[in-house]
Amino acid sequence: MGVEVRFDATMVRRYDVPGPRYTSYPTAPQFSEALGEVAYLKAARASNDDPIPGSLSIYVHVPFCTAPCFYCGCTRIITRDQTAGVRYLSRLQREIELQARLFDRDRTVDQLHFGGGTPTFLSDFELAELMRFIRHSFSLRDDDSCEYSIEVDPRTVDDARLAAIAGQGFNRISLGVQDFNLEVQKAVNRIQPREDVLAVMSGARRHGFRSVSVDLIYGLPRQTETGFAQTLDEVIAARPDRVAAYSYAHLPQTFKGQKQIRIEDLCPPEVKLALLGITIDKLTSAGYIYIGMDHFALPGDELSVALADGTLQRNFQGYSTRAGLDLIGLGMSAIGQVGDELYVQNYRLLEDWAGAIDVGRLPVWRGHRLSREDRIRRAVIQDLMCRGRLDMRGFGERFEIDFESHFAAELSSLAPLVEDGLLEIAPGRLAVTPLGRLLVRAIAMRFDAYLNEQSNGEMRRFSRIV
Ligand code: SF4
Repeated sequence: MGVEVRFDATMVRRYDVPGPRYTSYPTAPQFSEALGEVAYLKAARASNDDPIPGSLSIYVHVPFCTAPCFYCGCTRIITRDQTAGVRYLSRLQREIELQARLFDRDRTVDQLHFGGGTPTFLSDFELAELMRFIRHSFSLRDDDSCEYSIEVDPRTVDDARLAAIAGQGFNRISLGVQDFNLEVQKAVNRIQPREDVLAVMSGARRHGFRSVSVDLIYGLPRQTETGFAQTLDEVIAARPDRVAAYSYAHLPQTFKGQKQIRIEDLCPPEVKLALLGITIDKLTSAGYIYIGMDHFALPGDELSVALADGTLQRNFQGYSTRAGLDLIGLGMSAIGQVGDELYVQNYRLLEDWAGAIDVGRLPVWRGHRLSREDRIRRAVIQDLMCRGRLDMRGFGERFEIDFESHFAAELSSLAPLVEDGLLEIAPGRLAVTPLGRLLVRAIAMRFDAYLNEQSNGEMRRFSRIV
C-alpha cells in the first residue's frame, strides 16, 4: 500500500460517524455470555494439537490508577491503597497458573503487553514478582526478537524505575502524554510537566528500550491549535519511534469521570477537526509514516516496514507485525483469542473476576465463536485496514467464494465512497486511496454484518474521528 495519507476537512465531516476500531471482528459487543470458560478450556487445549502450534501473546491488565484523568474511557479503578495491588497480584498469579496449565510449554511467548489502568501503579518489586511468575509459568524469550511492552504513566517513573523495568525484560515502552499544555492538563486533571516526560523518553533510550511510543489525544478540553501544534513540535523533536494520536470522545453518560469536564471547556468540533489536520500535517512533514487508524511510526520502525511489505496485522492491541499468535488475556476485562475461531473476555468488574479465581475457575465472562462468514469478513476488513487493497480473485480462491457475488450488496453500497474518492473499484480489485486511508473505518463498516443489530447506545460507545 502507498504510505500517503490525505486530510480533507469536508470528507472527514461527511464520514465522521461513530464506528468500531476493528481491533477484532466481530467486535466486543457481539460477545455472548453463553460462551464462557468451558469453550475456552477446550479451544486452548486443542490449540496445542495444531501441526505447528504457534507462539503465544500475553496481555496483562493492571487496572489501578491513583487519580482519575477526566477524559478516561479505560477499565480502571481509582485508589491510593497500594494493598489493592498486592491483592490483585496474588489473584493474577492464580490466574496465570490456571492459564499456564492449558498451553504446551514449548510455545514461546513472542509478544507480551502490560496495559491498564497504570501498570506502574505496581512497585518495582511487585512488577518484578509478576514478571518472575510469568517467566516461571510460560517460556519467555530472552533475546531481542520478542516484543515485550509496558504502558507507563510518566508521573510514576524515574530513571531508577526505567532501569528496573528494562531489567525485567521489557523492550518497548509507551507513554501517555496527551498534551503538554498546562491549561489542558488542568482541565483533564492530569498534570505532568513536559520536562518530566522528555526525561522519561531520553531515559528509556539510555536504558535500551528498542521502541518508545507516545500517546496524544486531540479534542481535549481547552486545546487550541497553537497549543497542540507546540505539543506536536516538542514530541517530534524527541523523536519517539511511534506516535498514536487518538480522538477524544466526550460520552459522559458512559464514562462518568467525564462529567468533571466543564462544558465551557469542551473543544468545538471545528477546532477538533483543525487539530486532526495539524497532527497529520506535522507528523508526516517530520517524516513519520501514517500506519492507519491514529498511528504513525518512523520509517525504520517495524510497523512502517510491515506496512510497506504488506505484512501488517491488526489485533486486539492495535497494529502489529505478528500474525497468528494465540492471545492469553490476564486480569479483569482482558481479552483473549485462541486459534482462528474463538474470542473471550474476562469479567469486567473486579469482584466478579476475583470471585471466579477464588473458586478455582478461569474468570471468562463472555466470548464469541467465529463462523466461516465472520472469518471471511474479518479477512476483508484486515486487507482494507492493513494493506489498503484487496484482490477479489485471490481472496475468492482463498475462501472458495466468488467475491463479487458474495459481496454484491456491499460493493454497491460503496458507490458513494468511490464517488467521494475514498477508494477505487477496478475489475477484480479494491484499492483504498490516500484520502480513504484516513477514513478507512467507514469503508470497513460496509463489510460489518453486525452493525445493523447494534442499538443506538452501543453505536454511541464507539469513537468518532472528530
Ligand atoms: S487515562 Fe490512564 S492514568 Fe488516567 S485514569 Fe485512565 S487509565 Fe488511569
